[in-house]
Amino acid sequence: MPERRLQVHKIDNIGYGWFVSEFLTITCPHCGEDVETSFDPSESGSEFIIDCEICCRPMTVAVRVRAGEVNSVEVQAA
Ligand SMILES: [Zn+2]
Repeated sequence: MPERRLQVHKIDNIGYGWFVSEFLTITCPHCGEDVETSFDPSESGSEFIIDCEICCRPMTVAVRVRAGEVNSVEVQAA
């Protein structure tokens, strides 16, 4: 089991109302490359599937948000 390194970057935070978008850099569980995705942190948590930009294989991204801040990010091969 390779070490999973997850990075959370808050690049763009418009900062008012619900119009906040955040970008996550996650590590693809298939090829190990970093992939950037965005999500809506106004929800208390979200789970979505994206395709890796590098190897095109799907992964499930589960984001948990607490008080508008990313609490945890989990990435699994989908
Ligand atoms: Zn990949």
